[in-house]
Amino acid sequence: MIFENQVRKTLKKIGLKKNEKILVALSGGKDSTTTAYLLKKFGYNIQGLHINLGMSSYSERCMNVVKKLSEDLGINLNIYDIKKEMGSSMCYLRASVQSAKNLKNCAICGVIKKSILNKEARKLKVNKIATGHNLDDEVETFLLNILKGSLQLSANIGAITKNIPDKKFVSRIKPLFYLTANEIRKYSKQKNLPVVYEKCPCALDSYRIQIRKFTDKLSKSEKENIIKNFEKLQRKIKRENKKIIYCEACGEPSMKNICKKCELLKI
Ligand code: AMP
Ligand code: ZN
Repeated sequence: MIFENQVRKTLKKIGLKKNEKILVALSGGKDSTTTAYLLKKFGYNIQGLHINLGMSSYSERCMNVVKKLSEDLGINLNIYDIKKEMGSSMCYLRASVQSAKNLKNCAICGVIKKSILNKEARKLKVNKIATGHNLDDEVETFLLNILKGSLQLSANIGAITKNIPDKKFVSRIKPLFYLTANEIRKYSKQKNLPVVYEKCPCALDSYRIQIRKFTDKLSKSEKENIIKNFEKLQRKIKRENKKIIYCEACGEPSMKNICKKCELLKI
């Protein structure tokens, strides 16, 4: 099957080994659900982590499908409850940061989720974190970074993160990196996977949505061309000669004394 073979090819490119412990970041959406389903199908050693964002019935629906998927696959599911651990729902955290710092919401959510994932992955002593990011997500991110005027921001984009190595960083992999959202939707429906298909009610990132209006009109090969050109360009991006230090507030790896997450939440 072409779809599954593409994922196998990406995993080969990443160099993922069967004895590695993988934590799949399960949101309940089609992408991360398909990622877990295929990694398990291919015989990898996976477990799941779901971040309950505390966003009323939407979060309940996500939690239910993630539980169902984990039961169906026979994998261990770890749950991080954001309200319990951080005191309020993601929507509330986002709204407070947004009004205080005039930032776009999906960026805030992304920074907080990434920090939680890295910390929990380290606690669980896994080798890799797998997320459901797809070709559309990556094309959007790359174009957004260009519009922001910084190619440097894209230095870490790829099917495997290219962070400066550090013992506290868990590498992130994206097995669906070369597949479009449409292909993944079709596959997950065909396999009847438990998925919440509705959009996150908090996703109001106007900048990204504007870009999506453009990228939605592109064909798969045009999207692939953007990524292929970017991969050629990436080899030429000079990495900033920065050292990893640990955040003074939370201890997570960071480029500055205070990490991005703590900086955002210090309202
Ligand atoms: P998004 O930024 O919402 O497009 O999500 C990108 C990826 O991050 C998903 O495919 C998941 O792997 C991961 N992710 C998003 N939300 C959650 C969540 N609530 N819990 C665990 N992982 C998540
Ligand atoms: Zn911090």
